[in-house]
Amino acid sequence: MGKLTNFKRSIWVFHASGGSCNACDIEIVAVLTPRYDVERFGIKLVGSPRHADVLLVTGAIPRDFADKLRRVYEQMPDPKAVVVVGNCGTSGGVFYDSYNIAGPIDEIIPVDVYVPGCPPRPEAIIDAVVKAWLKIEKLEKELEGKKE
Ligand code: SF4
Repeated sequence: MGKLTNFKRSIWVFHASGGSCNACDIEIVAVLTPRYDVERFGIKLVGSPRHADVLLVTGAIPRDFADKLRRVYEQMPDPKAVVVVGNCGTSGGVFYDSYNIAGPIDEIIPVDVYVPGCPPRPEAIIDAVVKAWLKIEKLEKELEGKKE
């Protein structure tokens, strides 16, 4: 894995749950609780996509949630990254052929990192957020290069 070098601040994460069974969401909560306590590394959950660098999405997305997810993504400032947590969002999982599923998340918004598992372990979620962080750091450097 690459090395975080000069990111100027902490990374802010917004969590959107689609048609999740809630188990993936509980693993995300576990990442924040004292055992893992990712806030000490500067990874912070925020309440609005307008403040977020990274979008964490869980669940197979129902048709009536697809537009809402697009709006959440559009509200995030650039540069940004999307992490899909769990098999449901990655491939549809156990709901893959359900009549009311809008499809895997990458058919709705661009996805940067996938975290397979049903549900994935907290360590895998942390690893994915760091990968997203590296992508954002790279994009920030590119933007700074364009300004010079
Ligand atoms: S991947 Fe598994 S744990 Fe996660 S939302 Fe789907 S069914 Fe639930």
